[in-house]
Amino acid sequence: MAAKCRICGRSATYYLDHARIHLCEDCFIKYYERKIYKSIQKYNMLEGAKKVAVAVSGGKDSLALLESLYRIVSEKFPELKLAVIHIDLGIPGYSEECRKIVEKMCGDLDVECHIHDLRSEEGYTIPDFQATPFRRRICGACGTVKRYLMNKIAYEIGADRLATGHNLDDVVEVLFELYLKGSVGEIVRIKPVSWSTHPKLITKIKPLIELTERENLYYVLSRGLPVLSVQCPLAKNSRMLKRKKLISMIEKEIPAFRHTLYKSHLKRIMPKLEKTVKEPNLMECKSCGMPSLSELCSYCKLTSKLKKTSQNLDSE
Ligand code: SF4
Ligand code: ZN
Repeated sequence: MAAKCRICGRSATYYLDHARIHLCEDCFIKYYERKIYKSIQKYNMLEGAKKVAVAVSGGKDSLALLESLYRIVSEKFPELKLAVIHIDLGIPGYSEECRKIVEKMCGDLDVECHIHDLRSEEGYTIPDFQATPFRRRICGACGTVKRYLMNKIAYEIGADRLATGHNLDDVVEVLFELYLKGSVGEIVRIKPVSWSTHPKLITKIKPLIELTERENLYYVLSRGLPVLSVQCPLAKNSRMLKRKKLISMIEKEIPAFRHTLYKSHLKRIMPKLEKTVKEPNLMECKSCGMPSLSELCSYCKLTSKLKKTSQNLDSE
């Protein structure tokens, strides 16, 4: 016999294994949007905010974030402005589709849209890092580029929040790695809201932090949002994907492993760590003027290495 929706009793579409409940599409949508609204309220994500920049890559998590945030903001925070930031990474066979999806979503929702094309605006693309010592850690380089530019653009367009699509799977994957390495200074920064500590550093919020990747996929399917038909071709040997696979295997043996680890981190460990780990002192990067932990920010260090590599290749 087909399973029934726990809420309305109609035939169920989805099973949420961590909560052990079946839901139909309509009830799942309500459950999902309510959960995001609860996270927003629980962590005061939008308190005092006037404009939220949403980082949208075109993947399922960021599309789910944009759609749900758009609906929640329209209903509960009508004064709040939304703007989308998308970075075209210039990855052949992948970035074109991501960009098209983002442009279409912004058009459909009639949301302010900022597309930042790496090739035309910065003079390089992510595949260019394949010729540098970063080729083995290309996702790390890509992450540095995205983090830096998202913050910079959010600052330039006058946003006071930057929302990202980081979900529970992402956060647990990062925690797993940081706990393994014992990187206490970084562990303490993994939280639902990272409040600004510098005028050019925008407060980051993670409204999807308590939802899994699978729940985001269900939401995208239920709302009929576009789904990318390709994966990033540079992700093949990504250590991040290997760790996620490992965590899924653990989850099969220890149900709700992700939820438990996240809750212990936030409720038991963070309060203790926050008392002992000091906020780092930020200065302004001597090259770009953006907030930095050292004289040159990590973005300027990264791009200067890229420039050196291309100069060396040109002179060969
Ligand atoms: Fe960037 Fe790696 Fe993601 Fe590709 S898989 S978009 S290189 S972070
Ligand atoms: Zn810099």
